[in-house]
Amino acid sequence: MAALTSVSGFPRMGQNRELKKAIEAYWKGKASLDDLRRQGKKLRARHWRLQQEAGIDLIPSNDFSYYDQVLDTAILLNVIPQRYQRLSLANPEDTLFAMARGYQGEKGDTTALPMKKWFTTNYHYLVPEIDPATRIRLNSSKPFDEFQEAKELGIITKPVLVGPYTFLKLARDSQAREIKLDAGLVDAVAAVYAQVIERFADLEALWIQLDEPYLVLDKETGDAELFKALYSRILPARRGRIKVLLNSYFGHMGDIYETVNLLGFDGLGLDLVEGRDENLAAVNSYGVAEGTTIFAGLVNGRNIWRNDYAVTLGLVDALRQKTDRLAISTASSLLHVPFSTQGEDGLAEEVRRHFAFAVEKLGELHDIAQLAAGQGLDALKTNQTLFNGSRVVPDQSVADRIASLSDADLVRQPARAQRQALQRKALGLPLLPTTTIGSFPQTKEVRAERARLRRGEIDQVSYDKFIRGQIDQVIAKQEELGLDVLVHGEFERNDMVEYFGQRLRGFLFTKNAWVQSYGTRCVKPPIVWGDVSRAQPITVEWSSYAQSRTQRIMKGMLTGPVTILNWSWPREDVSNQIQTTQLALAIRDEVLDLERAGIKVIQIDEAALREKLPLRKSDWHKDYLDWAIPAFRLVHSAVQPTTQIHTHMCYSEFNDIIRDIDAMDADVISFEASRGDLVVLDAIHDAHFETEAGPGVYDIHSPRIPSQAEIEERIGQILDKMDVSKVWINPDCGLKTRGNEETWPSLANMVQATLAVRARL
Ligand code: GLN
Ligand code: ZN
Repeated sequence: MAALTSVSGFPRMGQNRELKKAIEAYWKGKASLDDLRRQGKKLRARHWRLQQEAGIDLIPSNDFSYYDQVLDTAILLNVIPQRYQRLSLANPEDTLFAMARGYQGEKGDTTALPMKKWFTTNYHYLVPEIDPATRIRLNSSKPFDEFQEAKELGIITKPVLVGPYTFLKLARDSQAREIKLDAGLVDAVAAVYAQVIERFADLEALWIQLDEPYLVLDKETGDAELFKALYSRILPARRGRIKVLLNSYFGHMGDIYETVNLLGFDGLGLDLVEGRDENLAAVNSYGVAEGTTIFAGLVNGRNIWRNDYAVTLGLVDALRQKTDRLAISTASSLLHVPFSTQGEDGLAEEVRRHFAFAVEKLGELHDIAQLAAGQGLDALKTNQTLFNGSRVVPDQSVADRIASLSDADLVRQPARAQRQALQRKALGLPLLPTTTIGSFPQTKEVRAERARLRRGEIDQVSYDKFIRGQIDQVIAKQEELGLDVLVHGEFERNDMVEYFGQRLRGFLFTKNAWVQSYGTRCVKPPIVWGDVSRAQPITVEWSSYAQSRTQRIMKGMLTGPVTILNWSWPREDVSNQIQTTQLALAIRDEVLDLERAGIKVIQIDEAALREKLPLRKSDWHKDYLDWAIPAFRLVHSAVQPTTQIHTHMCYSEFNDIIRDIDAMDADVISFEASRGDLVVLDAIHDAHFETEAGPGVYDIHSPRIPSQAEIEERIGQILDKMDVSKVWINPDCGLKTRGNEETWPSLANMVQATLAVRARL
């Protein structure tokens, strides 16, 4: 008999991002809540059916969400801060959206919950906030309703929930500090999960999946006890009526496997892609408890290349040495891959067959289960043709260039302190210089014009003219507000990674391979197919044009090598280090061309640098920082001392790698700081951080307009911790996803707040 197949989670946006469109229409008042609910229901049904048709045994439910599954879990547990409850919004969906995006309207004015990256992905979750007023109780019927919905279609799904351990580890108090766990809180959370299990047993669910990705992180004291305390209260609720799958992903749980195994879960999900060796070693050393099925996470939920069946079958054999109870599963939720390769007709069939998106991965699960049972050998043969011989011809000139690099190429001269003095003089900036992160609103008009160009309705000449018009406008407005360092607005870019990819050798692009990043925001990463190099200058023309239109300093805008790789689908046949170095050389050429064209400030965004920081501390340096940071330095090491290098990061959790951030040797860094905690400011202070820094003074992920007073207060907090001569004033991130209506008033308030603070210095 073939092994059970299981999917940890399926993308929720829909083949053509139907969910995004429906939610945004609702936000704009163009669709009713009923329309939105109907669309959600339609998508859920479609996705369950697809999985059923692919022969998947354990199909997930409750993986659907209007915004984020962690937020859903918070709502399920009634972890809804007072300030949202007080709004008394008419519908649960509106409360959810208020928590996710903030609310500004007739019922009140409140900011959104903080948002953070979900482990090493580019997906963001909302940070649950537990305060003394929180009363944990079962507060939503969403998981049960969706289970029933599927049941009515004749599909018995496996409900999926973020587990209690991960939930508590990710939750923060109202000051954004880790939660102090007392027995009362742990009991209350465990009680809700026990209740959930009972309800599902009543509804005749066979399995429930509890996701505990936090298990793959280093353990702190008390973690194992917390896990045991939670599950020894939860598991008895099964009473033999339902099975519990404890699912882990994004790494290994070798250091807690023994404890977890002894608790006697019905299923144990192990990531055999990212945590392969350690997870296998744990199974070998401790065995598998009687009655436990290992859910072998064999199909990568994080990349889009075809599974190598021969390798996978080797892993199945290794596991079979220890247990016969095996299910074939995805290594993580498929939320992090695009929907389907179908319709990607821009890719030649010879190319396209190397990829498996979510739908194709369903087929892989099925194939692997068959093959593991000794059936379906044709699938193995076809699969092997993908891995025989070399897919691409290596580019010798790229290899030669890398081989000729020396340590001197990784160090900028003179030292930063000296450069800073020279730059102050050369650039003539005031204290607390104001700037923005690069992009300005990509309005409907801008996107429509690009679509017209793509469809051939207008030619390049008129498109370029249109973009120049946009740049002129945005420069005039920035001058009017009084910003110090201007940007050109990035109107010519569809995306900060794809735009560069399209102008580099070695990349491939898709039409529709969208992946959810946060809320309704989706990204479409390009694919690294072969060796990367720069064919010709990429941004020089636009930056020079923009500089020619103003007396003020125009900042050049580039995406850094680590971010380009992290926000692309990387190759699996070449290391990330080599791919990053290839990219670094390409961007280095661009930096030098910009400098030659008279651009004095160049920002190299590394928005995603922290994202791929390994989850376990012991791997940070050897597996990542030791090459990612030098790759960044390679990009800018050859510029003049007076050329100011900026970088930008979309988060502030780098207090623990603060020395590494300084070692990037940029002159200025801007980062997100308005939604999260300000621990990083303490770290900057304590570490005598050398890089000048612009901690974002307002949140651009929310449509609300911050007042001048609010921003002044923020600047005050920053100046409490940082030397005024090193502080820059800027928003959190680029403004492309915002509208003009909120962007300009917000920036005006930011500039006015800065002027007021300067006047008091
Ligand atoms: N320069 C980019 C922009 O402003 C940076 C975006 C980002 O950090 N995600 O859009
Ligand atoms: Zn950003």
